[in-house]
Amino acid sequence: MLNTRYLPISYTRQEKNNVLYINENKKRRVIKISSIKKIIVGVRHTVKIAVILIIAIVLILGIIKLTFKQTYSVSLNGEVIGYTQDKVALQKRINDYINKGNGDNIAFVELKEMPEYEACLLKNNIQTNDDEIFSKVTSSGTNYYKYYAITEENEEKAYVKDFAEAESVVNQLKEKKSTNADNLGIVEKYSTEQAEYKTAETCVNELYKEKKVVVAKASIPKASYTGPSVATSLGISLVKPVSGVITSRFGTRSLGNHTGIDIGAPKGTAIKAAASGTVIFSGYGSNTNGYNNYGNVVAIKSNSSVTMLYAHCSALYVKTGQQVSQGQVIGAVGSTGRSTGNHLHFEIKVNGKSVNPQNYIY
Ligand SMILES: [Zn+2]
Repeated sequence: MLNTRYLPISYTRQEKNNVLYINENKKRRVIKISSIKKIIVGVRHTVKIAVILIIAIVLILGIIKLTFKQTYSVSLNGEVIGYTQDKVALQKRINDYINKGNGDNIAFVELKEMPEYEACLLKNNIQTNDDEIFSKVTSSGTNYYKYYAITEENEEKAYVKDFAEAESVVNQLKEKKSTNADNLGIVEKYSTEQAEYKTAETCVNELYKEKKVVVAKASIPKASYTGPSVATSLGISLVKPVSGVITSRFGTRSLGNHTGIDIGAPKGTAIKAAASGTVIFSGYGSNTNGYNNYGNVVAIKSNSSVTMLYAHCSALYVKTGQQVSQGQVIGAVGSTGRSTGNHLHFEIKVNGKSVNPQNYIY
């Protein structure tokens, strides 16, 4: 086509000039035209193939798109647990949960293994299951539950479940002007187990401290006394000087205040030192030595504040100034001095004041 259209134009011009020249010229042009034609035909062919290929690819992609969707398979510990279309969003949701818990009492979750994602084509009729994957992954971990310790001078004293509860305990103690109010604190704690915690009310009652310091009376319950020796708040452990029945207790009685206890025992029964110490008096009591009515008496000082008296003895085996050890026989039971029968009058004085020996022994 190009050929026939071109030739007449050249020919018209050639008629006015030399024919030979025209022919040559025509020949050259024909050669030129045929090479362009070849190129054009080649290009056309290539374009055709490309178009066919593109159409084919589009068709294949279309078919794939209609049948499959682009997803990620999710595996946990090597086992496929589901499919997701948005692995970034799913992993973010999992990360948030393991780092921050459920916003309630789970503080965080410790996972042994993170899920793994792999790109895959999933048939359109198979559902992705982000919620299920999320719950499988999070439930595979260990939950750390939150609770709160109320501290006093940095020492944990009580535990509650909520921060608000802990705060209320501290505020209530401040309002009540508890003496420890300024040293209270709250510490967040974690545990893998959920426990029963105390109520705010119980904690307030337990932690409340009044301004007045009440000193608990030191006493050993009788039931706890089983052996020959017992630790007492005197700072000394005592042994019974004589085994026997208490015939008169410490305190008031018809004849006046009784400053010790009387233990009935036959004359001559060995009297043992209840505790070790220094004999500060051994002899017959009178007004001049301050032991009037005690008869034969031994006084032993066991430490800077505690002295014990053993009175109405029939015999004395130690001398003033002597050191005695606990359990050492220091005298014998008798009825000397103001006494109506054989017994040991046993007395304990703390800083010069008589105390009830039954608080410590018998
Ligand atoms: Zn007595």
